[in-house]
Amino acid sequence: MWRIRSSIRRLPRAEAPPEVPARICLDKNESPFDLPHGLKKELFEKLSKIPLNRYPPVYPTELEGKIAGYLNLSPENVIVANGSDELIGLILKVFEGDHIVISSPTFGMYGFFAALEGIKVIDVPLGEGFELGDVEAHTDGARAVFICSPNNPTGNTHPKRRIIEVLETGAPVVLDEAYTEFAKESNIDLVKDYDNLIILRTFSKAFGLAGARLGYAVASEETMGYLRRVIPPFSVNSLSLKAGEFMFEHLDYVGHVIKYIIEERERLYREFKDYAYPSEANFLLMKLDAHDFLLKRGIAVKKLGGRLEGHIRVTVGRKEENDELIRNLREFINLTAD
Ligand code: PMP
Repeated sequence: MWRIRSSIRRLPRAEAPPEVPARICLDKNESPFDLPHGLKKELFEKLSKIPLNRYPPVYPTELEGKIAGYLNLSPENVIVANGSDELIGLILKVFEGDHIVISSPTFGMYGFFAALEGIKVIDVPLGEGFELGDVEAHTDGARAVFICSPNNPTGNTHPKRRIIEVLETGAPVVLDEAYTEFAKESNIDLVKDYDNLIILRTFSKAFGLAGARLGYAVASEETMGYLRRVIPPFSVNSLSLKAGEFMFEHLDYVGHVIKYIIEERERLYREFKDYAYPSEANFLLMKLDAHDFLLKRGIAVKKLGGRLEGHIRVTVGRKEENDELIRNLREFINLTAD
């Protein structure tokens, strides 16, 4: 008789995809820009030369080297994976400990992978201003403490001194910097000082490659050695590796996109100052219960629940998409004002 593991039975069912895809997708924190035609053509020419009958390299040293150069670190400090999501699961295989610590509201995948591992999730909710609470109270025996900065879905960063305080406990700290390119400051410099720090990054946001599924972790050489033991061989396919490498030849383009998105984010923030929270990411949290209203008009945003019931998370789009969002949200505010 086959039986489903209870940890799997407890997981929520996968959501059904929407019947009608939205015209404007501001719900997944993707980049609103696909590669410009010329660059895409150049990349596809490179891709056409990749032998598809061959496995990708066992060690993707080329891309890891490029990332290391970009961060001013050694390739020994970098590991690439099939999206940074994959790395969350792998990290939980490396360390001992019976629980993870998260600070809600935050990215849902930390809890998802903890459930797969059958370990507890201790939630130390963020404070009123979305600041970290007393996570140190639960670092003993923690398999990992997850800190997301800038945090999804609130958009704020956590100060470096606060991150250092958690690192000083010696517990493994996973610092998720998926949105760091849109923020004022990163914490990558701490990798040199703390062996217990693993930073997660992704090509899905600022680098605009969500479809390629490419992420990476940065940590001390020793910690990386263990992560390399658990990563399945050939985790990233040859096409995505090449796409990642290609982006480092076009960092000026990436920089241009980042600047555009930050400017648009600030424009949206100014428009909805009474409802939006300041953000250092490519999205804004807004205290507006406008999900259904916007969807009827073809605009998808993320509906939030729990403590953020009645809030939406809006990804910054292209100028014309943001204009349409502004028009519709203004209409929503006028209709619901008492
Ligand atoms: N971390 C955070 C905080 C995210 O919001 C996301 C994507 N929504 C990820 C990680 C996953 O990134 P990837 O596409 O590299 O798996």
